[in-house]
Amino acid sequence: MKGVALIAHDNQKPNIVNWAKANLEILRRFKLYGTGTTGRMVHEQAGLEVECFLSGPLGGDAQIGALVATGHINAVIFFVDPLTSMPHDPDVRMLLRICNVHNVPLATNPATAELIIDSPIFQQG
Ligand code: PGA
Repeated sequence: MKGVALIAHDNQKPNIVNWAKANLEILRRFKLYGTGTTGRMVHEQAGLEVECFLSGPLGGDAQIGALVATGHINAVIFFVDPLTSMPHDPDVRMLLRICNVHNVPLATNPATAELIIDSPIFQQG
């Protein structure tokens, strides 16, 4: 089963919950991981099973990066806040870099996220 990581900056959390609700059937086919708060919200509000790590600012992004590097996470969905600078902004760059090293797709907005999980190439590959 493919692994998909779910992460959202604070003002994007409602968006990732709504996106998860709109894609429930597809997301059930994957093993879901999430940073602490995002994962819990997706679990509680969309009803999906999510393995939750630490909160992003406390190292959850790094835990997800480690699973990308070891081949357990096959796509990262990270809804970023494009208008606010945050102390953990370097974590976005870290995940982008590790995904580029391992050729793992990373989406930073709902449109790209949709393309990844809907793609037959991703679902079968
Ligand atoms: P969170 O982390 O889901 O624990 O809030 C996400 C983030 O990196 O901001």
